[in-house]
Amino acid sequence: MAKLVYSFTEGDGKNKKLLGGKGANLCEMTQIGINVPPGFVITTEACVEYLDGGQLPESLMAEVKAEIGDLEKATGKTFGSGDDPLLVSVRSGSALSMPGMMDTVLNLGLNPDTLEGLIRQTDDARFAYDAYRRFIQLFGKVALGIEDAHFDERFEAAKAAAGIVSETSFDADQLKAVSDEFLDVVREQAGREFPVDVIEQLELAIEAVFRSWMGKRAVDYRREFHITPEMANGTAVNICTMVFGNKGNDCATGVGFTRNPGTGDKEMFGEYLVNAQGEDVVAGIRTPKPLAEMESEMPTQYKQLVALRDTLESHYREVQDYEFTIEKGTLYCLQTRNGKMNAAASVKTSVEMFREELISRDEALLRIQPDLLEQLLHPALDVGNEAEPVALGLPASPGAASGKCVFDADIAERLGNEGEEIILVREETRPEDIHGFFAAKGILTSRGGKTSHAAVVARGMGKPCVAGAEGIVVDVAAREARIGEHIIREGDVITLDGGTGHVYLGAIPTIPAHFSGELAELLEWADETADLKVMANADTPEAAQTAREYGAMGIGLCRTERMFNASDRLPIVIDMILANNAEERKAALDRLLPIQRDDFIALFTEMAPFPVTVRLLDPPMHEFLPTEHDLLEQIDSLRTYRQVVRGRQSAIATLDHSVKLPEAFEELTEEHVNDALVRKERMLRKVRELWDVNPMLGHRGVRLGITYPDIYGMQIRAILEAAVACADKGIDIHPEIMVPQVITLQELGFVRQTADEIVAQLASETGKTINFSFGTMIETVRACTRAWHLAGIAEFFSFGTNDLTQATFSFSREDAENKFLPMYNERGILQDNPFEVLDTKGVGKLIKMAVKGGREQREDLRIGICGEQGGHPESIRFCHDVGLNYVSCSAPRVPVARLAAAQAKLAN
Ligand code: PEP
Ligand code: MG
Repeated sequence: MAKLVYSFTEGDGKNKKLLGGKGANLCEMTQIGINVPPGFVITTEACVEYLDGGQLPESLMAEVKAEIGDLEKATGKTFGSGDDPLLVSVRSGSALSMPGMMDTVLNLGLNPDTLEGLIRQTDDARFAYDAYRRFIQLFGKVALGIEDAHFDERFEAAKAAAGIVSETSFDADQLKAVSDEFLDVVREQAGREFPVDVIEQLELAIEAVFRSWMGKRAVDYRREFHITPEMANGTAVNICTMVFGNKGNDCATGVGFTRNPGTGDKEMFGEYLVNAQGEDVVAGIRTPKPLAEMESEMPTQYKQLVALRDTLESHYREVQDYEFTIEKGTLYCLQTRNGKMNAAASVKTSVEMFREELISRDEALLRIQPDLLEQLLHPALDVGNEAEPVALGLPASPGAASGKCVFDADIAERLGNEGEEIILVREETRPEDIHGFFAAKGILTSRGGKTSHAAVVARGMGKPCVAGAEGIVVDVAAREARIGEHIIREGDVITLDGGTGHVYLGAIPTIPAHFSGELAELLEWADETADLKVMANADTPEAAQTAREYGAMGIGLCRTERMFNASDRLPIVIDMILANNAEERKAALDRLLPIQRDDFIALFTEMAPFPVTVRLLDPPMHEFLPTEHDLLEQIDSLRTYRQVVRGRQSAIATLDHSVKLPEAFEELTEEHVNDALVRKERMLRKVRELWDVNPMLGHRGVRLGITYPDIYGMQIRAILEAAVACADKGIDIHPEIMVPQVITLQELGFVRQTADEIVAQLASETGKTINFSFGTMIETVRACTRAWHLAGIAEFFSFGTNDLTQATFSFSREDAENKFLPMYNERGILQDNPFEVLDTKGVGKLIKMAVKGGREQREDLRIGICGEQGGHPESIRFCHDVGLNYVSCSAPRVPVARLAAAQAKLAN
C-alpha cells in the first residue's frame, strides 16, 4: 500500500506533485536546517483517493496517528490532553500555488480539557480563549460548513455590548463568553455539538481540506489559470505544530518577500504585527507595519529574519514569499514559496540575480512568464494630470484603471460580463471574491496591507490594486463608500493608481508605459538565444513605430485593406467598386495608387532595414460598401425627402413673391436628391451583385485579385514604386509581396506574372530593378496539402492561422466565440480557444505537413505565422519545434513573443 504521510524530516522537497508546493518546501526547509515547527504532510494521492471514493483511504488515519505520536515526542506536548497540549494547523497546499483558494484550520486540538491545560501552561486565559474562539469559528466554517456571518454577528454583538471597538480590548472573560456563543452557533447551525475528540477534529479537518480542492473558488481559479490535472491534481494537507505570534509583546507574525515584488528592489520587504496570529496579516484584519520597523522594535529577531531571507534566496535561487512567526522571541518559518511578482519586478530581479551570479542567463530568461510582460505595456496615470487624489492607500499592485465602483463580487462579475469597466471596492477581500477580481479592472480595499489577499491576487493578475486605504469607509450593505465629505455610490466612476496608492474621483487620462533598461537588456538576451525571429502585424506607420520600439524585426503582415478603409480613401475605393467599366475602374485606381505608394513609403521608411510583408487585398468587396439594409433605409429616406422637396417647390411657387425665404431653402434641388438616389440605387445593385452567402468562404483574397487584376496590379505597382522611392533616398528596404487565400499554384503564378510585368515596366520607366520577395499566406487546407507545389513559386510561407483554424474546425470565429466555444471550454470538450492558442493537434498537423512539403521543394523556404496565435507563448513553442523561421503578432505581444521564442529554444 502506498505511503500516504511523510514527516517534514523525510519528505522529498523536490516532489511538489506528491507533497504539494507548501509541503515539499516545509520538508526541504526542515532538512536544510531552517527552524520550522515539526509536522508532516498527507499526500495529494490521498486527496485524489478521497475525492474518487468519497471516504478517507483506509490506512490514512493510522499513519496520521503514528505521525502525531512522533510530533508528541519531538515537542514534548500531548495531543488532546495534559498541561502542555499539542495544537496543530491543518493547511492545504497543491502542486501549484493557489493563494487562499483552499481551506485551512488553525489551533486544532483545543477542547475543554486542553483549553484548561493551555491556560495553566501559559498562565494566560485571555490568549487561550482567543485561540479557542478562533478555532471554533474556523473549524465551524471549514469542517462543518457554517457561514462566517453567524459567528460575526455574535462577535459584533459582544463588542457592542462591551462597548469596545477593537477585539484586542476583549478580556479573558469576555472571550470565554464569545467562545460559548460560538459553541452555541455550532449547535444551532450544524445541529451537533462541537467535537471534543481531537482525532475526530483532525479527521474532519483533513476531509474538509480535501473537499476544498473541488470548492467553487478553487475550481474557478484553476479554470482561469488553465491549471490542468497534469499540472496539479488534488491538494496535500500539511499538519504542523502550532506556534503562536499572539502570546504577548515578544511575539509577532508576518510575511515577507526576499525582494520587493512590486519593484524588484533588493530590500527587506514585508509586514508584521506584534502579538497577532498569521491570519490577521493575510486577511487584512489589522493593518500591519513594514518589516523595516522591526529592526528597532525587535532587533535580535530582525537580524535572524535577514539571515532567514538570505538563506531562502540562496537556497531556492528565486525570490521567496515566506511566512514567519516569533513565539516568545524564537523565530519560526512557517512556509515559503516562489514569490509572485508583477512584470516589472520579475524583469528587474531576473537581470539583477544574473548579475549577482545567483542564476544563469538562461535561468533569468526562463523564470519569467512571457504573458506577464504585457503588463509592462499597461497604462499609467498621465503625470501631467491635475486631479487631486481623494484618498491614499498602499500601492499594492501597479497600473492605473478607471471604472464604476461596485461593492460586491457577484455584481462585479455580472456587470463585468456585460462589458462594464468595474472597480471592485471592499473593506477587505476574501478568497470567495475571486470571481469579482476576474471581472474588475482594479481593486480598492480600505483595510489590509501589501500582502493582504487583495494585493497578492491582484498582483498575480496584473490588475491595479490600492489596499488599506483607511480614509475610506466602505458600507457594503448600503453599497456606498465615504471618503471625507464625498460619498461614492455604486456606479460612480473612480480611478486608482496602483503604483502610488492614490484614489481619484472620476476617470483620469492614462498614458502607455515604457520599456525599462532591464527589460530591453533581458529581451536582447532573448533575441540572442532564440531561433525564431519576431515580427509584427502592423498596417500604419504609427503601429510600425510602436512595434519597433517593442523590438519587432520587421512587419510580418500589413493588411492593406485597413489602408482602404481610411476616411479619405473609402470614397475612391467605392468609386472603384461601382465602376461600370475598365476605364472607370482605372480612373479610380489611378487616384488610389499615389495614396497607397505614400503609405508604403512611410511604412518601409519606419521599418528599414527590416523586411515589410505586404499582403494584397483580402476581404470581399462588399465590406467596403454599406449593408443592403442600410442602403434600403437610405433610399427610402431619399424618396421621402424627394417628396418633401417637391412639396416645398410647389409651396414656394404658390407663395406671394414678396415673402422673404430663408437661404437654406434654395440649397437642395430635386436634381440633387435624384443624383443621390441614382448613386444609392447603383450601390444597392452592386451590393446585391457582390453578395456572398458565406463571404468568408466567398469572393475574397486571390480570387478577387484574379477577377479584378487591376486592383492587385495597382497595389503591386504602389509597393514597387515605394521601393524605388526609398532606394533613391538611400533607405535600405526589403519589400515582400504576399498573396492571401491561395489554393493553387496557378493562382500564385498569375499574380507573380503581374508582378514581373510591373517590374519590367518600372525598369524601363526608371532604369531600376527592384528586389522583392514573393510569397503566400497558407490559410486554406488545400494550400497545406499542396505546399510542395506552391513552394515552386513562393519564396516564403506565412501561416494565416485565423483562417486556417476556421477552415480546419469548419466554424467561423465570430459564431464560435460568442455562441458555443465558452461552453465547449467549460465542459472540457475543447481545452482552449483555438483562435487564441494554436490547436497543435489538428491545425498543427496541417502546418507540419505544409512545412515538410514546402521545404522539400525549396530548402531555404522562409516560413512564419501571422495569425493571432503567433503571439501566444504555447503556440510559439510549437512554431519553434516545427522549425518555423518567424512569428508575427500585434505590437503589444512582441515582447511576449521575443521571450517566448527564447524559452522555446531553451526548453529543448
Ligand atoms: C489569418 O487568417 O490568420 C490572417 C492573418 O489573415 P486575416 O486575419 O486577415 O484573415
Ligand atoms: Mg486570413
